[in-house]
Amino acid sequence: MLEYQPAADTSWYWKKICEMKQSLSSVYDMRMIGQDPYKISKTYALMKPTRERDRWSNFVREIWAIPKHQFISWLAVQGRLATRDRLLKFGANTKTECLLCGDHAEIHEHMFFQCSYNKRFLQDVASVLTGKEFCQTLRAARRRDKAGKTRFQKGIIRMGLLVMIYWIWKARNTTLWDLKISCILVIVNTIKFAIRTRLLGLSSKYLKISNRDFIEKLV
Ligand SMILES: [Zn+2]
Repeated sequence: MLEYQPAADTSWYWKKICEMKQSLSSVYDMRMIGQDPYKISKTYALMKPTRERDRWSNFVREIWAIPKHQFISWLAVQGRLATRDRLLKFGANTKTECLLCGDHAEIHEHMFFQCSYNKRFLQDVASVLTGKEFCQTLRAARRRDKAGKTRFQKGIIRMGLLVMIYWIWKARNTTLWDLKISCILVIVNTIKFAIRTRLLGLSSKYLKISNRDFIEKLV
């Protein structure tokens, strides 16, 4: 029953029903069917977004962040950027190795943040923004949010992560489409400049004297 696929010429609503069956099969234990009375509320609870997704949603919606950084980051945390492993699944004719280091398959876990090329600028930016070493995974980086004690610190950590995700993806696309590797120093300075410009545009209630000192040192 689970393997059943609708024929190509069947109606759209039958295809939708079969699609729903496939989605349910990934979250529902089929062995339980018939053992407990079926409850639609139970199924809804299984299908609704997880708390992890909610946490990312709050993180990415940081109002200090730049919208294009938020957009790319939201795709990245869901594993929906068009990386080479995904393109292969869609049937594209492409190589598999990472465009930036060439040492590993290009998958989300590698790009964020285990790629040796990315690490060269991630560590530099992370130590400027948080004074700490950079994390190996997206989830660990998100948890750094808790290290921020003030609204300013939390905003910096969130902005910093989103801007770095964006620049990793941009550096990768520059290599793919322009056939050139971006200079690490240029990336670091551009990231710092973007954060500085954004912060200086914030309401004065966030910009205490100590915060202004921090911003001025960014570039
Ligand atoms: Zn790599």
